[in-house]
Amino acid sequence: MPTTSYRISDFLEAAERLDVDVAVGSDQPQVLEQYSAGRTVTLAFKDGDRAVAEIVDYDRDYPLAAIIGVDDETTLIAAMAAKALKLRHNEPASIAATRNKHHFRTRLANSGIPAPWFTLAPVGDDLTFDVENLPYPVVLKPLALSASRGVIRADSPTQFAAAVRRISAILDAADIRGEAASHILVEEYLPGDEVALEGLLEDGQLTVLALFDKPDPLEGPFFEETLYVTPSRLPVQVQNAIAATVNSAVAALGLRQGPIHAELRINNDGIWLIEVAARSIGGLCSRALHFGAGGRLEDLILRHAQGLPAPTVGLDCPATGVMMIPIPAAGVLRHVAGIEAARALENIDGVTISIPIGEILVPVPEGNRYLGFIFASGDTPEAVEAALRAAHDELEFAITHD
Ligand code: ADP
Repeated sequence: MPTTSYRISDFLEAAERLDVDVAVGSDQPQVLEQYSAGRTVTLAFKDGDRAVAEIVDYDRDYPLAAIIGVDDETTLIAAMAAKALKLRHNEPASIAATRNKHHFRTRLANSGIPAPWFTLAPVGDDLTFDVENLPYPVVLKPLALSASRGVIRADSPTQFAAAVRRISAILDAADIRGEAASHILVEEYLPGDEVALEGLLEDGQLTVLALFDKPDPLEGPFFEETLYVTPSRLPVQVQNAIAATVNSAVAALGLRQGPIHAELRINNDGIWLIEVAARSIGGLCSRALHFGAGGRLEDLILRHAQGLPAPTVGLDCPATGVMMIPIPAAGVLRHVAGIEAARALENIDGVTISIPIGEILVPVPEGNRYLGFIFASGDTPEAVEAALRAAHDELEFAITHD
């Protein structure tokens, strides 16, 4: 996992609970690597073949039983290395299709799964690309970024041109290379309610661990994540149809093992996939999920990776949710007031600010860090949503522009 990953402590704590030895493969050399007897290993994330060779080397000294790619950046390397070492894995080509938004759409294009119109657009000034006749509104998306970074809705050719310029700067700043630096995906804007499905695949069998509603409208022009509440309030037959769509998608992609995080939109015309990622939910959001005897989400993932029997899982609370706290403005975060008052509210389980005081806040579409997380649980999704909103109302952020 990248050293910046939000997921480090949740996975390491799960490993400790399960008494599993772990080594963290990361792109930055760890200061104490040479003294830590195999607990960390530096991997060339930007060069997949080299990273795989480094893992194979590592395995000679410290034999591995499983490899888990925790974040988007590492799922492909993990699959390639696990395949090389004959450990449980997804086909690297399947993972690669989830890592490039255009590959994802083309791979599913002939699968019979409903999909929006899409095309690939050049990032620079290519006069042959016809911006006048796109099916506006459209959404422009970098091919290989995540967390809604660089995802912009455009309703007209003028907005389209402005969005391309903005994404171009984001790609430069992110040091993206190759096709993902020179092209972006353009697809039809899909109106409707959005949901996120958290699932676990075992030999091609999908278990839905949680279906989250996203009760805040996400209409653009930027798509900052906020509320996730489970169980979904959608009718059961719609929920079943969502699971069936994800099932068809993972089968079409050839994914067979491990965690799945899928985002979909639902409207009168049907159920539409936005994306399928071969990893678990991002940020600290998994802390909203407790599976009783199954433990935490990371416990389930670690058990599955090692081929241990999966306990029957169900959420052990009638309703839970998380708010990814929106970044209110760009600037330097000076102070956060109201945290204790928010924590004291009924149904609130936790409030965490994840950007340190003194650091710069960058809103989407340029930013990709979360300001913080509010966790709630209760008897109903309505109560959870109300608690999350009330806790957010308690928080006040002092942001300066120096
Ligand atoms: P990322 O991997 O960066 O999160 P996504 O493809 O998931 O990128 O898009 C981020 C968000 O943008 C989605 O959760 C959704 O709200 C919105 N979005 C993306 N594509 C569309 C679309 N075709 N129509 C409507 N909204 C979209």
